[in-house]
Amino acid sequence: MKLIMLGAPGAGKGTQAKRLAAKYSIPHISTGDIFRANIKNETELGKKAKSFMDQGLLVPDELVLELVADRLSQEDAMKGFVLDGFPRTIPQAESLTETLEKINSGINFAIDVDVPDKNIVRRMSGRRACVNCGETYHLTNLKPKQDGICDTCGSKLVLRSDDEPETVLKRLKVYHDQTQPLIDYYKGRDTLHSVDGTKDIKDIFSEIVEILGE
Ligand code: ADP
Ligand code: AMP
Repeated sequence: MKLIMLGAPGAGKGTQAKRLAAKYSIPHISTGDIFRANIKNETELGKKAKSFMDQGLLVPDELVLELVADRLSQEDAMKGFVLDGFPRTIPQAESLTETLEKINSGINFAIDVDVPDKNIVRRMSGRRACVNCGETYHLTNLKPKQDGICDTCGSKLVLRSDDEPETVLKRLKVYHDQTQPLIDYYKGRDTLHSVDGTKDIKDIFSEIVEILGE
């Protein structure tokens, strides 16, 4: 099963993608996580990506496309994957379509997690991410067992610098300008399904599983 998650920053794509990856035994591929790992490891790619991410801008397509094509060519992605945070522009979507067509394949489902802008800033200011493994929590909606500590690896939880309200507003604008057009792109390919992202995490998950029908 080949899935992509669409939606504004903070809509809950990662939260659902992790659960879907576990249920269907497919890799969860988050370009944001890949960039953050590169920043942590101080790679050349990380240095280049950081300057865009800090400003709430998209990393240029040329830095993203090869990275994703490379990741999708790995053995574990052959039977399926859930892509989270990619594609984010029409050229990225076209490149993904071409990459998959080369192996006679394509995206089965594009899931749009729909959350109005007014909910996003509040939600993002409560998101906390692990400095070590990147696992995400929420101050009120998805609390760790111990305040400020990651359940998975025991490291510290922090507010991501790009989750500060000012940067979130910029990211939302970028989303509407550059990423939202993908909804029509996937509608046109008969793969788009929208879910109400303001519901409970569990209810959204059940709704997506029903859409996937397996
Ligand atoms: P995205 O990957 O789309 O940027 P996340 O999955 O990281 O978003 O979710 C953003 C924040 O909102 C996180 O702190 C997460 O715990 C919380 N969250 C995710 N889904 C919901 C939901 N359905 N209701 C309330 N809070 C949610
Ligand atoms: P995310 O964790 O998905 O919210 O991504 C965090 C940041 O990483 C984004 O605000 C972008 O700067 C960058 N990023 C992640 N994925 C992409 C992508 N597909 N194209 C461009 N930039 C991306």
